Amino acid sequence: MPAAQFAVFGHPISHSLSPPIHQAFARQFGIELEYRAIDVAPADFSAAVHRFFADGGRGANVTLPHKAAAFALAEQRSVAAARAGSANVLTPLAAGRLAAHNTDGAGLVRDITERHDLDLRGHTALLLGAGGAAHGVAWNLLDAGVETLTIVNRSPAAADVLADAIGDPARAHTRYWEDLADIGSYDLIVNATSAGVLGVALQLPFSLVGARALCYDLSYGAAAGSFLAWAKAAGARYAVDGLGMLVETAADAFELWHGRRPQTEPVYQQLRRQGA
Ligand code: NDP
Repeated sequence: MPAAQFAVFGHPISHSLSPPIHQAFARQFGIELEYRAIDVAPADFSAAVHRFFADGGRGANVTLPHKAAAFALAEQRSVAAARAGSANVLTPLAAGRLAAHNTDGAGLVRDITERHDLDLRGHTALLLGAGGAAHGVAWNLLDAGVETLTIVNRSPAAADVLADAIGDPARAHTRYWEDLADIGSYDLIVNATSAGVLGVALQLPFSLVGARALCYDLSYGAAAGSFLAWAKAAGARYAVDGLGMLVETAADAFELWHGRRPQTEPVYQQLRRQGA
């Protein structure tokens, strides 16, 4: 019997760690699977996804820039996907229909609270960025007990859209990027911008970093370098990149597809040893 087919769709996608992560999870259970990285331009995304599932695909991850499109083409949406308006996991239903899930926020919170053993309750949080990833994590941060979430985006309208969607002005509100030097300090700063991936170093004031602050960049590897260097220079107690989040979100996808929960720590440590 041919191995079950899985894939991650993105553009570009050659850098993706999803194939080795899912193969490592599968080995834990003796599962044989094929997991491909499929580079597809936005115009071809929908057709490529439908072709993949029509050919027997059992599950797909979706990454930049297709998460909103993945959400749009699914007939059924999880609560997390509906809140975020985007999806990073697709599963097949009957008759060619698809279900969309979003595991980004759960993965971030699990990485912070379980791998790094930090309690988010009562924290003041600053969320930099208001794109797909920011939408994916904002609710989970609040659910995990973050007291107030200040959303700041280079384009302020997008931050307003996210704050309005949350609809709880006492806990989630926006500020302007130009005012970052004047908005005080935070216990948690989450960089959900794609600046690092684009090779841009954000210019952020040290005053944002509270005593004992956790600074978390959703990106990882070289892309997180300048934000983490800034955080350390500003005196942050913890400066963490998004590799752990990536592994945790992958574990959620694996569980959706296979009904079994893989161990994430050995896979995370292996990727670190390999220089991720
Ligand atoms: P989007 O393209 O949806 O959003 C990009 C965001 O970055 C926007 O808010 C944009 O602001 C902002 N931005 C881009 N360039 C700059 C800049 N030079 N200065 C300030 N802000 C900037 O991307 P995603 O939200 O999907 O992804 C964001 C990051 O999160 C990526 O690095 C991605 O790799 C990472 N990620 C990591 C995951 C993990 O598992 N570790 C999971 C998901 C994402 P504007 O609106 O003004 O354009």
